[in-house]
Amino acid sequence: MENRCIKRSGKVDFVEVADNIFAALTTYYGLSWANAGFINKGKGLVVDTFADLSQAQELKDFVTKTHRKTPGYVVNTHPDMDHLNGNQLFIDSDIIAHQNFYDEYDAGRFKYWQMVQKTGKQSGKPGLMFLAENIEGLDFAGIIPVSPNITFDKNMVIRLDDMRVELKNIGPAHTKSDALVWLPVEKVLFAGDVLFEGVVGWSEEGVKGWVGALDYIYKEMKPNVVVPGHGRICDAKFVAEMRDYFQNIIDTVDKYYDEDITALELAKKIDVRDYLHWFQPERLFVTVSTIVKERRGQTGIKDWEYLVPNMAKLKSHYDKAYGSRS
Ligand SMILES: [Zn+2]
Repeated sequence: MENRCIKRSGKVDFVEVADNIFAALTTYYGLSWANAGFINKGKGLVVDTFADLSQAQELKDFVTKTHRKTPGYVVNTHPDMDHLNGNQLFIDSDIIAHQNFYDEYDAGRFKYWQMVQKTGKQSGKPGLMFLAENIEGLDFAGIIPVSPNITFDKNMVIRLDDMRVELKNIGPAHTKSDALVWLPVEKVLFAGDVLFEGVVGWSEEGVKGWVGALDYIYKEMKPNVVVPGHGRICDAKFVAEMRDYFQNIIDTVDKYYDEDITALELAKKIDVRDYLHWFQPERLFVTVSTIVKERRGQTGIKDWEYLVPNMAKLKSHYDKAYGSRS
């Protein structure tokens, strides 16, 4: 069937991507504008619960209207707060995640984002200002952390009447606990942050695992419809595009890395002409910097005050090398 837009609101679009399978999409303004989903079969299953309570409430209202009862299940695809801050609105559902979830979950993380929202713009610090810009329009007030009550190991199958839903962990990729929500008959994949434009890798092991995971999705699962963790609905072609993006990073880093090269010099050597349409392609610096710091045993991988100025330098390089994008 053609994707059918069911409901459009200020912050969330609900699109029926296959019979009774809905993507809940936010416009991709910045790094915490995440997607979610809902499957209206059997007991009903929600995929992720957004970054803020107003988006989560829209999801809940949509579920209540279409399903007419509390959904049986919520899946948290990974422990990042932009995908689970709305869990408290689904407190009566079973909330499921991969078993490594708790290795990486920080229940108080939303407090950091409240601080960024309150003080980031006036801080004069490029990293904090960047983060504040990227969460503009979201509201982290009123969040009470609610975490999963069920975890699974490699795979888990949930039956929603006659519909088979598979939860799969094929990481490490974006995190160690990425859970794909896969509908093998309908060939619809809710990918969480295993797939989205503007991805960044937070470990070399993760980047390498990611290539394998994307190759598996592309060659074995062959999805017709992919709902990414952020951004618009896509398909298998984008899976291959992202796999090639990471492979290109790995190959170029392996070719040019030595003890003296800076992360910025190394990042500039990576040809990104096929990825300039992605959201903030200069985010590539984050992945390269992560690999360089890991190889040198350095700490501070998530130091945004280091990352953001270098991303800006990489963006100017792209503007010169490939032509301005703005
Ligand atoms: Zn995300």
